[in-house]
Amino acid sequence: MPGLFIDVEMDESARGDVELARKLEEVCPVDIFKATDAGVEIVEQQLDECVLCELCLEAAPPGAVRVVKLYEGTALERN
Ligand code: SF4
Repeated sequence: MPGLFIDVEMDESARGDVELARKLEEVCPVDIFKATDAGVEIVEQQLDECVLCELCLEAAPPGAVRVVKLYEGTALERN
């Protein structure tokens, strides 16, 4: 089930980056990112566990990841 409060969006090219997938899997404290052979998988049932730590934004290239706060219509992103 997708998150009610949080969504994580990824740029299409970043989503297929296997190395980035491993990094994201490592940094996210609540396991929202899963590394697969095809790149990054977003673990939907974990989305609402997001603690807005921004570690995923710091680990990814600018613009690659957005953490959307569905409850207030804003997003965390790195430009
Ligand atoms: S902000 Fe933190 S908790 Fe939320 S998805 Fe990124 S790394 Fe995970």
